[in-house]
Amino acid sequence: MLNIVLFGPPGAGKGTQSERLKEKYGLVHISTGDVFRALDPASELGILAKSYSDKGNLVPDEVTIKILESEVSKHPDAKGVIYDGFPRTTAQAEALDKFLSEKGAEVSMMLSLVVPEDELKTRLIARAEVSGRKDDADPEIIQNRINTYNSSTAPVADFYKGQNKLSEVNGVGSLDEISNRLFEIIDSAN
Ligand code: AMP
Repeated sequence: MLNIVLFGPPGAGKGTQSERLKEKYGLVHISTGDVFRALDPASELGILAKSYSDKGNLVPDEVTIKILESEVSKHPDAKGVIYDGFPRTTAQAEALDKFLSEKGAEVSMMLSLVVPEDELKTRLIARAEVSGRKDDADPEIIQNRINTYNSSTAPVADFYKGQNKLSEVNGVGSLDEISNRLFEIIDSAN
């Protein structure tokens, strides 16, 4: 089973590239951000998730881990999964390891998209026009998301580095160039 953690700060291109990896390798794409956005906004869980995501803060680990596990469990026959936007804390990474090991599986690799902060901000502001996402439109919320990434999420890369599973990928260039960089790493590992 190919379990790929596609990692990177907000605006790095995780969602776009996940869709390309999904097509090429026949994987299931799970984005915890998309799952949160798809919740009924009037439900208890929907209200809770939005109270964090609208401000650019992380949804608490207990909630996020449960949601992720329930999403993965919806695809028992998957050839593999792309994890997009998860794990975002070391506790989530530990939980994912435990969850997969109970299934006799493991994270195959983390692919980390590297993009300079100025470029991230430009991309997110442009994305706000089409995404309609409140957290893309406000420069203060964008900065909070980047800060949260640097303080809470970036250490997750060290977690996988310690397992020799981390590859950093230049996330600047055309969409095809970036996809090809990702394909090369995946193909050379298989
Ligand atoms: P994204 O679509 O990945 O940019 O995620 C949007 C928002 O959803 C984030 O800013 C968080 O509030 C929340 N979120 C998504 N994934 C996670 C996660 N793994 N842990 C905590 N919060 C998350």
